Amino acid sequence: MTYQVIIIGGGPSGLMAAIAAAEQGVKTLLIDKGNKLGKKLAISGGGRCNVTNRLPQEEVIKHIPGNGKFLYSAFSVFDNYDIIDFFEELGVALKEEDHGRMFPASNKAKDVVNALLNRLDKLGVEIRTNTPVKAIHYGDNKHQIILMDNEKIDTGSIVIAVGGKSVPHTGSTGDGYAWAKKAGHTITDLYPTEVPLISKEAVIKNKTLQGLSLRDVAVSVLNPKGKAIITHQMDMIFTHFGVSGPAILRCSQYVVKEFMKGHRPVVLEVDNLPDKKENELIEEMRKEMENNPKKSFRNLVKGFVPERLLDYLLQSAGISKEDKSANISKEKLLTFIQLLKHFSLSIHDTQSIEKAFVTGGGVSIKEVIPNTMQSKFMDGLYFCGEILDIHGYTGGYNITSAMVTGRVAGMNAAWESMSRI
Ligand SMILES: Cc1cc2nc3c(=O)[nH]c(=O)nc-3n(C[C@H](O)[C@H](O)[C@H](O)COP(=O)(O)OP(=O)(O)OC[C@H]3O[C@@H](n4cnc5c(N)ncnc54)[C@H](O)[C@@H]3O)c2cc1C
Repeated sequence: MTYQVIIIGGGPSGLMAAIAAAEQGVKTLLIDKGNKLGKKLAISGGGRCNVTNRLPQEEVIKHIPGNGKFLYSAFSVFDNYDIIDFFEELGVALKEEDHGRMFPASNKAKDVVNALLNRLDKLGVEIRTNTPVKAIHYGDNKHQIILMDNEKIDTGSIVIAVGGKSVPHTGSTGDGYAWAKKAGHTITDLYPTEVPLISKEAVIKNKTLQGLSLRDVAVSVLNPKGKAIITHQMDMIFTHFGVSGPAILRCSQYVVKEFMKGHRPVVLEVDNLPDKKENELIEEMRKEMENNPKKSFRNLVKGFVPERLLDYLLQSAGISKEDKSANISKEKLLTFIQLLKHFSLSIHDTQSIEKAFVTGGGVSIKEVIPNTMQSKFMDGLYFCGEILDIHGYTGGYNITSAMVTGRVAGMNAAWESMSRI
């Protein structure tokens, strides 16, 4: 059997690549080892699929800290607004939520997956599920896909869209790196990103704050000199092993990179009142305490942070629940405000790459042509999606990157195949 384009992997990047290739009128085969296509897509966004983001292109690129700039050329062909139009044309109405995040109006990730599958069907793309690819033999004018049962399939172009190593039960088990290496590509160090963080500190071990969410706090990752490397103001949550939530996930890759430099543990700092300057807060508190000497200090600061955290901070500052404002020393007030503005937590590890939302590292973007996604080393070979050394924050940026690179890879794989086979 011979095809013009074979796409390996039916995640968002492979589905989009197959659609783009078939739209050029070439004979296209999509192969996936799972029993269903789009398994990760179907559980994305908590089952609601944050399919893209409506922020301006410049902002979207900024939210892809792992080589987002590489995507400029691809975005000039197909960008986040094109993704929105694409789905609306397929009958999937999208709605915007906070931070520009776009979801299907139905809140069902399945609707996104089904729309892609229907489009593949209409375009006559051949699909083989339960079909793991074992190896690729690269040739001059055609390549050959080898399946697990040793069946061989010839093709003009190949699009490798098998994703990274995260959440392997969805099928992403890192199979593609070996195929990329075989074609001469460098695989940059793989690491977990958008991953919950582990702390062995007593406050975590004792479950003092477990389950507590903090809203709109500023979380910073500190370098060994105590300087903030990055700060993200969003929500976070204390868990039984450490911390998680949007602000933590965004900070996680910077923690991982500090680990890679041999710095461990890494200190996270949480500013619970990021919109108030420390000096102003001290002044305000002093005035309040002077005006309310008989009021308990706890009552005065109630509402600054959730009560469980408040009690923990008061205890850490040596202030009892009953202490009256008049009896709080300047030293204790300063300690309390310091804890409020600079709550620190040592991070000893991250959850594994398998538990991460996204895999950092991958096929080096230096070896891929940015406006076609073609290998710089091998004719008829294309990469798209998470297998590439590209990763974004949560917020729709990873599916966006997968679909944009998929679209460009599929289109160009089709065009090139016409002159190859
Ligand atoms: C729980 C979770 C929620 C997420 N939510 C969001 C979100 O809401 N928004 C967002 O932007 N990003 C989200 N992400 C990230 C996003 O889902 C991924 O970045 C994206 O799915 C990557 O797409 P991909 O096409 O590169 O690979 P994948 O989606 O990983 O798909 C790869 C496919 O390749 C197949 N495959 C692998 N090896 C072989 C082989 N040897 N032979 C044949 N087939 C093979 C697999 O079966 C799989 O179907 C989430 C991730 C997780 C884990």
